[in-house]
Amino acid sequence: MSTQIASKSQEFIDLEDKHGAHNYHPLPVVLEKGDGVYVWDVEGKRYYDFLSAYSAVNQGHCHPAIVGAMNKQAQTLTLTSRAFHNDKLGVYEKYITDYFKFDKVLPMNTGAEAVETAIKIARKWAYEKKGVAETEAKIIVCENNFHGRTTTIISFSNDEGARKNFGPYTPGFVKVPYDDAEALEEALKGDNIAGLLVEPIQGEAGVYTPSDDFMKICRELCSKYNALFIADEIQTGIARTGALLAVCGKCSCQGHCERQETYSRPDVLILGKALSGGAYPVSAVLADDEIMNVIKPGQHGSTFGGNPVAAAVAMAALDVVKDENLAQNARELGSYFREKMNDYIQNSDLVTLVRGRGLLNAIVINDSEESDTAWNICLKLRDNGLLAKPTHGNIIRFAPPLVMNKEQLDECIEIIIRTLEEF
Ligand SMILES: *Cc1c(COP(=O)(O)O)cnc(C)c1O
Repeated sequence: MSTQIASKSQEFIDLEDKHGAHNYHPLPVVLEKGDGVYVWDVEGKRYYDFLSAYSAVNQGHCHPAIVGAMNKQAQTLTLTSRAFHNDKLGVYEKYITDYFKFDKVLPMNTGAEAVETAIKIARKWAYEKKGVAETEAKIIVCENNFHGRTTTIISFSNDEGARKNFGPYTPGFVKVPYDDAEALEEALKGDNIAGLLVEPIQGEAGVYTPSDDFMKICRELCSKYNALFIADEIQTGIARTGALLAVCGKCSCQGHCERQETYSRPDVLILGKALSGGAYPVSAVLADDEIMNVIKPGQHGSTFGGNPVAAAVAMAALDVVKDENLAQNARELGSYFREKMNDYIQNSDLVTLVRGRGLLNAIVINDSEESDTAWNICLKLRDNGLLAKPTHGNIIRFAPPLVMNKEQLDECIEIIIRTLEEF
């Protein structure tokens, strides 16, 4: 097994190891440059990026339109705080609310902050609009969820690593199995339910893809029981799954129509990651007035949220998604990828399954969750020029930038299959 690291790379790894907290376990590769679907390490070796920073880099590395917008704004005005107005925020707020068709946006920076924001909005809505008794509001979440790393969010995780010894935990959450309509309806019948917080596909859990109609069921049940349907599209949103939003399902409109049979419109939409094109932290919560207006001055905020650089970057990042038809590209290349992987799996004992939607996919390795087979495959993929990481012990996620073309994808499929055949 080739795990040899060149000495220059090793020096950078040693620096992180000595001076940085050990809260990650990165694949041993040290990157110094990115362009489109490619990244280069400090030795000059080129790789296909098949993680895209957990789908933050949907538009490809260092997209000139996004970097250009960021540079231009950075040289003009970077931060005013929300104590004053600036000439970018309102323009951005109009742009993003038109784009996703909600009345209002609340801008934040990271995904976890946006999830926290959605939780606060849902609770306040429950008390002030639904009439839930003070401090009694509950939010339904799904087993194996991933919504970020804050104290409240890990309180309703069932990942031991994320939770253990970080208590006491924030109360007010009810857990149901993912993709289980009956359990969801039972939970929604409970008292004091503010809403349902759910990922359209569970990315971190291993690209766990629910039944085609699960989002529709979530929408219908939340309406039936007067609870907010809160979609965490931080990883699935912004073209990744072959539609502008994963709640758009199989519709080919890229989220720009309102065909009710396919679009399960959430009450609260949470975006992050690719909203930034990978350039700068930007997240957002979108909702209509009757929900968003429960937040009044002084009740929520962030020093950097909605700053001019973030506003410029997010508009450029969303422009790229539309201009370059990234949703359509993800949809077409995604089906092609799964088709090719399924052909391979027919004759493979190593891989049991490929699943996903658009260009958010994963393969399941025929080994235990505790085995290091998936990790070793990722090391071999790295040696062969492609970077991916296991999500759980035996699952490898494949999520390249959406600016990939068919020739590049063919080369990647060849690398992946050749690597798997070496095992
Ligand atoms: C990444 C992610 C988050 C957290 O985003 P951060 O920017 O890392 O805080 C939340 N929800 C989902 C579904 C994610 O994939």
